[in-house]
Amino acid sequence: MEIYCKHKFKATHHLSLLYDSPCNQPHEHNWLIEVWVKGEPEQGIIVDFNKLKETLASYENKDLNVTIANPTAENFALEIQSRIDQAISKKARVRVWETDDCYAETD
Ligand SMILES: [Zn+2]
Repeated sequence: MEIYCKHKFKATHHLSLLYDSPCNQPHEHNWLIEVWVKGEPEQGIIVDFNKLKETLASYENKDLNVTIANPTAENFALEIQSRIDQAISKKARVRVWETDDCYAETD
């Protein structure tokens, strides 16, 4: 079985790209994070949705550079995956939409 949850919020970041890019300047995105967790329900649940939501909400209105080095969508997805693993001891698949058209997803 698999559960799914999503969360949308604003947060700022800037990148440390080695080439000239507007992304190297601080700017805001409307991030959409999608999370999937596979497993067998124990006492009826795979994971408490609130624990996932708490983890995702912790990035709301934050500067991602404070907690993530070079917070590309890829690095942000890996960071969220790691935080969820710490919170629920399960490996989630995480998709980070940086814009309406572009996302990064963990394996
Ligand atoms: Zn950006």
